[in-house]
Amino acid sequence: MGNGLIDPFGREISYLRVSVTDRCDLRCFYCMPEHFNDYTVPDHWLSFDEIERVTAAFAALGVSRLRLTGGEPLVRKGLPELATRLAALPGITDLSLSTNANRLAQEAVALKQASVSRLNISLDSLQPKRFQLITKGKLDKVMAGLMAAKAAGFAPIKINMVVMKGINDDEVLDMVEFCLEHRFTLRFIETMPMGETGRNARDSYYLSLQTVKARLAEHYNLLPSIMEGGGPAQYYTIGATGLKIGFITPISQHFCATCNRVRLGVGGTLYLCLGQEHSVALCPLLRAGISDVALQSVIRKALWLKPLEHTFNQMQTQVLRFMSMTGGK
Ligand code: SAM
Ligand code: SF4
Repeated sequence: MGNGLIDPFGREISYLRVSVTDRCDLRCFYCMPEHFNDYTVPDHWLSFDEIERVTAAFAALGVSRLRLTGGEPLVRKGLPELATRLAALPGITDLSLSTNANRLAQEAVALKQASVSRLNISLDSLQPKRFQLITKGKLDKVMAGLMAAKAAGFAPIKINMVVMKGINDDEVLDMVEFCLEHRFTLRFIETMPMGETGRNARDSYYLSLQTVKARLAEHYNLLPSIMEGGGPAQYYTIGATGLKIGFITPISQHFCATCNRVRLGVGGTLYLCLGQEHSVALCPLLRAGISDVALQSVIRKALWLKPLEHTFNQMQTQVLRFMSMTGGK
């Protein structure tokens, strides 16, 4: 694609992750400080019109896949309306959403009607008490959301589990069985050092997924597999079940060489890498009346700032912004 967005290392950028809020109705201890209230003032957030404008500029430059994320995207009022607008943009062929499912029971049908094609849902434990300990939320509410999404016809539904040593790593087999039962795709994630939450030292519970893979291989026949739109996960199928399991291993085996994405923060800052601070502020340009052509040119130039790779090190927090500002892998 001659007209596409190519970074200095020859990688084609076809995927934009859009953070629509940095707020959340849960408080996963690896993601947010418990009493986090230092939020960006909503006036500084991009409006739906501004998000649509930036997204349209990316689509004109060859980006075809979008993901809405956060924070928790469903706490932003009117999200299905935004989804409808973004899905209708010329060039956008895939619109997906990452959610904690806390409000999904109410929103699943509206999201389906809004042309959201795929859902990624965080689920770190199947045990109510433990779930509460990790997220401060209620497991039954999240389960209701999950089942509402299934009933609304979302497929595939991907379950994201951050695996933490001594916290929930004894549940990896239960999670496989749960996903087998419901035909969900399961992805395990390594803890990343993003934003110091002040709640437990991350290096004390960081667990390499190479260990988890070895443990699963003792119980199941793991066959190397691929998944369309699978992003950075390395996939396996469990025997003849068809269940796909992905391993997202930013620390133990990073995947930067095939990176195809950039991120738009809730305040209109374009982040070129999840694990680095390289960024360009688009909001002031939008509010100063930049033309569509000039906006596309700024985005093209911004791509030259994209670093080769992140430099995460599980022993310390290297990126100061919280995961909720740019929303996951
Ligand atoms: N609230 C939504 C959710 O939980 O799915 C979307 C945003 S959340 C920031 C996106 C993903 O990032 C979730 O799967 C979450 O578990 C993961 N995440 C957050 N902080 C993380 C960290 N420090 N290391 C690894 N994954 C993290
Ligand atoms: Fe909220 Fe998602 Fe972060 Fe958990 S991981 S605190 S649900 S934004």
